Amino acid sequence: MPELTCHCGAVHIEVETAPAEVTSCNCSICRRTGTLMAYYSPRQVRFTPAPPQTDTYMWGDKSIVFHRCKVCGCHTHWSAVDPAYDRMGVNMRLADPDVLTKARVRRFDGADTWKFLDE
Ligand SMILES: [Zn+2]
Repeated sequence: MPELTCHCGAVHIEVETAPAEVTSCNCSICRRTGTLMAYYSPRQVRFTPAPPQTDTYMWGDKSIVFHRCKVCGCHTHWSAVDPAYDRMGVNMRLADPDVLTKARVRRFDGADTWKFLDE
């Protein structure tokens, strides 16, 4: 079970499985934060403490909440506002580098076509 922490350790995340793929997205926020997201059901992700001590950011249609550690500012994850939406993103940059070494990085065109650029 891969464990992730922000730089200061205030946000600790466990995910059920190591990702086979992570997403490098060029949308207006991802290209600025530099995250490499892996996607899970919220049921596969555990925060300690819960809920995590994060500041949040939303824009546009405000359907997704972007979280960053309140203390050190690391971008940790995004979650859906709608609790029925069974998907969230976890920033694998916070995992042990070995986890990323083993994952394929997919380039996603979130800015425009909403398709992977590498297929
Ligand atoms: Zn932190």
